[in-house]
Amino acid sequence: MNSDIEKVLFDQDQLNKRMDEMAARLNKKYEGQEPIVIPVLNGAMIFASDMIKRLTFELTIEPIRASSYEGTSSTGKVKITQDVKSDVKNRPVIFMEDIIDTGRTLKALSDLMKERGAKSVEVISMLDKPETRVVDFYPDDYGFKAPNEFLVGYGLDYNGLYRNLPYVGILKQRVYA
Ligand code: 5GP
Ligand code: MG
Repeated sequence: MNSDIEKVLFDQDQLNKRMDEMAARLNKKYEGQEPIVIPVLNGAMIFASDMIKRLTFELTIEPIRASSYEGTSSTGKVKITQDVKSDVKNRPVIFMEDIIDTGRTLKALSDLMKERGAKSVEVISMLDKPETRVVDFYPDDYGFKAPNEFLVGYGLDYNGLYRNLPYVGILKQRVYA
């Protein structure tokens, strides 16, 4: 284990099992619908690529880059720094996110795609941190409920590092204190 990690919360086996279950539901729901899958970069890249490989229906992939976070505390602003390139009008949209914290990012992105005329919008998140929610937003499905701690690994970073860890863990406080 990486020495900056206090505790491993979810390992590859646990993540694989939940991703199988989440993908099975999507495979039933979206057959024949050709949705646009939108991974929210950078955090969701590992989770989204693992999820997408499990999907059996026709789909297109259009990443978006947005952020409401700097360091370890939320700034409250949602910035889109790279937008999707295709027209979402009348297409089902599936967002894939790493973690829902305050809820601001995915609330803003979901509202935007609805305004643009998406046929439907759903949000799948690897983790859900319900204790720190500040806006009324809930993902349609998530892998695991996460505690109110700063987590890294499986796409989640601290200043760009730790995304490559093959598990989700709690970062030792001494690393960012
Ligand atoms: P929010 O739901 O607050 O708008 O923002 C969610 C984003 O905040 C996530 O996509 C993620 O980038 C970041 N975030 C929230 N909690 C954590 C955490 O525990 N660790 C890391 N690395 N990022 C987090
Ligand atoms: Mg993110």
